[in-house]
Amino acid sequence: MTLAVEFEHVSRHFGQVRAVDDVSIGIEEGCFFAMLGPSGSGKTTCLRLISGFERPTAGHVRIFGQNSEAIPPNRRPVNTVFQDYALFPHLTVRENVAYGPKMAGVDRRTRDAAAEEMLSLVKLSGYGDRKPGQLSGGQRQRVALARALVNRPRVLLLDEPLGALDLKLREAMQEELKTLQQTLGITFIFVTHDQGEALSMADRVAVFNDGRIVQEGTPQEIYDRPRTRFVADFVGSANVLSPEISARAGGPASWASLRAEAITLTDPATARLSGTVRSVRYLGAVNRVTVAIPEGELTANVPTGQPLPSAGATVGLFWDGDALHRMDGDA
Ligand code: ATP
Repeated sequence: MTLAVEFEHVSRHFGQVRAVDDVSIGIEEGCFFAMLGPSGSGKTTCLRLISGFERPTAGHVRIFGQNSEAIPPNRRPVNTVFQDYALFPHLTVRENVAYGPKMAGVDRRTRDAAAEEMLSLVKLSGYGDRKPGQLSGGQRQRVALARALVNRPRVLLLDEPLGALDLKLREAMQEELKTLQQTLGITFIFVTHDQGEALSMADRVAVFNDGRIVQEGTPQEIYDRPRTRFVADFVGSANVLSPEISARAGGPASWASLRAEAITLTDPATARLSGTVRSVRYLGAVNRVTVAIPEGELTANVPTGQPLPSAGATVGLFWDGDALHRMDGDA
């Protein structure tokens, strides 16, 4: 397998700030790769290291096996779609999309044809004569995509590209982006702080915290087996058990994660732990039941339609032995 992008012990420090701190990673060609993490965790800086707008303080970034340090940004086989789209307001949609080829010296007929082809790919045929101001947010987003794709990059970098869209449009665009990536077979590297977005779209996810990658794997690995407390908390919906609770419930005497959907409510006599129902919240497909135990609380997802306890009731909590996953306590 060819690696599209490879980080070898890459750091980018700004004075005291370790924006990216000793990151090593390999991103395979054709992969939809998500960089997931809270604000300020170093995701955008990693993209800028790939596009060439930043240089590493230490380590190497390789693009298709080549050391990138010597390659200026405009010579890299990489394009970026920014969150604010960065379209030129005074140019038409077609001129915006044809801008890259124009700068590269491509003649007008050829570049207009290429722009039309890209506009059709993002379902905007017939919009070429409009100005960006005459488009909806979702349409502007597609123009930004077309403008990046027209340069035929081998790697497309997307920095929170759906951040400005409302939920419904965001979900529609998530599907379209995924389809587009599969059709084109280009490597997509996608930055987001939305765990649902990363898990649903990506082939692989890297979770960032404080300039480091704390876990990298398939969405399922990240979701089912968070390696640290940080990942469990950030990816959400996992209960975090302290070593004491885990041991009391028959698990390892270490920090452990337990997904809310892995817990079933049962008779306290046969349960691993028991507690008092604090609240029941309807979430659509499931009800989220919060149960107070002496050391804190645990949440269980009960599929809608199954019997629910009332607040104040004593309930037992049960799960299969392999549902509990050992984690690192720190990080
Ligand atoms: P967000 O989701 O908010 O965009 P991010 O995960 O992309 O965050 P980065 O933009 O990579 O994070 O920033 C990582 C850290 O590096 C932050 O603390 C940021 O303030 C700092 N940083 C980034 N660029 C610079 C710079 N040019 N000078 C100084 N500090 C910087």
